[in-house]
Amino acid sequence: MIELKGNKALVVGLGYRTGLAACNFLAQRNFSVTGNDLKSLDQLTSVIEKMDPSVRIIAGMQSPEILSQGFDFVVLSPGVPKSIPLVQEAARKGIPVIAEIELASRFMKGFVVGITGTDGKSTTTALVGHILSGLGIKTLVGGNIGIPLISLVGDTSEDSVSVIELSSFQLETIDAFHPHAAAMLNITPDHLDRYANMEEYAAAKMRIAKNQTADDAFVYYRDDALIARFLDKVGAQTFGFSLNAGGVDAFLRDGAVHVRWSGTDYRMVEIRTMKLVGRHNALNVMAAVLLVCAIASRMDRQIDFRRIGQLAADFPGLPHRMERLGEFEGRTFINDSKATTVGAVEMALGEFRGNAVLILGGRTKGDDYSRLAERLDGTIRALVLIGESRNEFKKIFSAFTPFTAESLEDAVRIAMKASRPGDAILLSPACASFDMFRSYEHRGEVFRSIFESLQKGEMAWM
Ligand code: ADP
Repeated sequence: MIELKGNKALVVGLGYRTGLAACNFLAQRNFSVTGNDLKSLDQLTSVIEKMDPSVRIIAGMQSPEILSQGFDFVVLSPGVPKSIPLVQEAARKGIPVIAEIELASRFMKGFVVGITGTDGKSTTTALVGHILSGLGIKTLVGGNIGIPLISLVGDTSEDSVSVIELSSFQLETIDAFHPHAAAMLNITPDHLDRYANMEEYAAAKMRIAKNQTADDAFVYYRDDALIARFLDKVGAQTFGFSLNAGGVDAFLRDGAVHVRWSGTDYRMVEIRTMKLVGRHNALNVMAAVLLVCAIASRMDRQIDFRRIGQLAADFPGLPHRMERLGEFEGRTFINDSKATTVGAVEMALGEFRGNAVLILGGRTKGDDYSRLAERLDGTIRALVLIGESRNEFKKIFSAFTPFTAESLEDAVRIAMKASRPGDAILLSPACASFDMFRSYEHRGEVFRSIFESLQKGEMAWM
């Protein structure tokens, strides 16, 4: 385990909430803190306004020379790659480099649930939080879901559960982080622009289990071949889930999610009563209920299977994930802007039988889009391409004679014309949003406002 000695900290990466939260956390605990970012002071104004005044800022450069000022350790914000020269030089000089998650975990009290995977992390994390707090357990939810873990640490106690969403980037730099229950939801190609290959990407994700012991629980998607390859290295008790029954601890049977716990079969969640829609969400529910059962038993609490099932069914889901916006002229508008990977779009398409118009495209992330092309047959009526990927996608998806649109508004108009009453108009882009929007949330909000303009008669489409 990396030892943190001394009190001179360098926090690298201030652009997001996490770097700010890490600086403030350390400053409030009397560390001497320097924050660094490539952005200029001007670009960082809104961050610096919220920063503890004792924090020194080095802005507009990130050269390894910064280290000559003598730091005891470096804290990396998520999204700052370990490969930057500053971090490499720190490692060479023997200066400990830790992630914000790792820093937080050193100060955190109570129980820890960690959730990772390519798709479904935020939904599952929020769902676990919803169930645990519904059971009357003191629950804190954070991490990659948008609330820096470090900002929650002060609220943790011996009887609290911290439910943490972890990206593979965050897991790359963990050291002593130790979840009592962890979930690996799936590993499908994503971020291959950042990793050399799938094996490396999977290995980064599997680090979630590296400090687990036989007292801990590791919940995993049984039908994922890549996860299977790493299972023998997991020290925790393993709990598999699958849409198919047979040799797993959570599964789908006769329209309900079942859990097999200590040899007994519990029918827990009727799919038709679930507010979350789609097979992928049935998987997320399985992961969530297994995590809840594992952590409850770890806390020596009675497991109330019925109540857990009810709470899971009642969870309304998060915005921008297969979110039904409503109907216009018989078309159901579905905002799945968060679907930035091929895997997520494949899951979304599982809901349709030729009755959807799919709006696809944006900034690509090195995913295997031709795989998606193979899957589109029979699920969509028409395809509308947006964003900077549209010309590349026009070739990949040529079998579907796609339309191309200059804007999302344009895409919706085309989708209205290409669809029939009873169809869905689905924004599930398989790409990042940054070519046209500030974020996937922004893309989803624009889609919603276009839908609302149609409904109010403020936008013509015919
Ligand atoms: P993440 O936080 O991992 O990005 P989210 O819960 O925000 O995951 O969901 C992102 C997208 O992935 C959504 O569009 C959703 O439809 C899809 N998705 C959710 N769960 C799964 C799953 N288990 N497998 C595949 N796709 C999923």
